[in-house]
Amino acid sequence: MQGKEYLMIPGPTPVPPSVMNAMSRPMFGHRSEEFAAMHKDIIGKLQKVFQTTNDLFVLTNSGTGSMETAVANIVSPGDKVLTLVGGKFGERWSELATAYKAEVLQEDFAWGTPVDLKKVEELLNANTDIKVVFATFNETSTGVLNDIEGLGKLIAKTPALFVVDGVSGVGGIEIKTDAWNVDILVTGSQKALMLPPGLGVISVSSKAWDKIENNTSPRYYFNLVKARKSMEKWNTAYTPAVSLFVGLDASLDMMLEEGLDNVYARHKLLRDATRAAIGALGLELMTQDSYASPVITSVYAPEGIGSDDIRKVLKQDFDITFAGGQAKLKNKIFRIAHMGFADKMDVLLAISGLEMALAKVGHKVELGKGVKAAQEVFLGRQK
Ligand SMILES: *Cc1c(COP(=O)(O)O)cnc(C)c1O
Repeated sequence: MQGKEYLMIPGPTPVPPSVMNAMSRPMFGHRSEEFAAMHKDIIGKLQKVFQTTNDLFVLTNSGTGSMETAVANIVSPGDKVLTLVGGKFGERWSELATAYKAEVLQEDFAWGTPVDLKKVEELLNANTDIKVVFATFNETSTGVLNDIEGLGKLIAKTPALFVVDGVSGVGGIEIKTDAWNVDILVTGSQKALMLPPGLGVISVSSKAWDKIENNTSPRYYFNLVKARKSMEKWNTAYTPAVSLFVGLDASLDMMLEEGLDNVYARHKLLRDATRAAIGALGLELMTQDSYASPVITSVYAPEGIGSDDIRKVLKQDFDITFAGGQAKLKNKIFRIAHMGFADKMDVLLAISGLEMALAKVGHKVELGKGVKAAQEVFLGRQK
């Protein structure tokens, strides 16, 4: 049916109707008192989500723009940096740091597994000149949740800055920026924050500011010193995406009204139900329980079937969109996002569609078995 779509990809994610409504208000100027007051409110609310007293900036760019802001402001040419890579988004840190002429020490962890803290400790001990460590909170390409708290403990003992890509996690998974010693945390609007694409958020610690002020990399639009100057008047250096700011204000209200603990618990419940369903269907999950992402579940297609064939049927016959595998995982996995504006019935719908798609591509499947397993989780009856 035209217009009835079930979007289950890790961004853009569905936008709640109340947020869409908020954004449809008439335009207003960004140099107005009204904007300044809203901006101030937004930062206060974001500090709760980030669990930080650090400076926070809402930037008009996608998540990668916020990642570049981090790199442009704290990496000077020749700096030695460590990137912890277990998927496509970890690789992005290496690419960005290379573009800004860092000496990049990249440590790879098998895709589908988390960063190994022991290995990181060894590397930090062996390379005392590392200036920045880059990590990914929720590796969206695999569905792995990394131990940011553990990494923060190790890195805080060194002079290095700790920079975390939280793009798909922040707002769906609890993160304690200050308690976990994260110097810079970045995110984007179109994932767990339930907004259209177009905004990035970045938090900056005082340890990071020391480096930013003396950094020698070229930067113009992405200059955090300029952003901080404008922030003195709750302003932005350049024209912000005003409507998206209005939307962000509304989506943060929604999250705070639900209660952040409830938001995080909801995502874990959706993860548990999805994983139970996949297990019941006899399909293989890409990640183990101990580090499985609360916002996205990666699943191997059955032997001999391309994951893109399953996705094609889902889209064509049921208007359900799952994400595919990226890079070396292409046509091997599909990824079900339960991120942001997602709840129990979304999971049941996704699994129900998946069962029918599997049957259609010729995989033997007992209809209803996955749905039932998810229902049992929601009823609190799972073993
Ligand atoms: C989506 C995503 C990004 C990239 O964000 P864009 O908005 O596409 O630039 C970066 N990191 C992670 C972990 C993501 O999930």
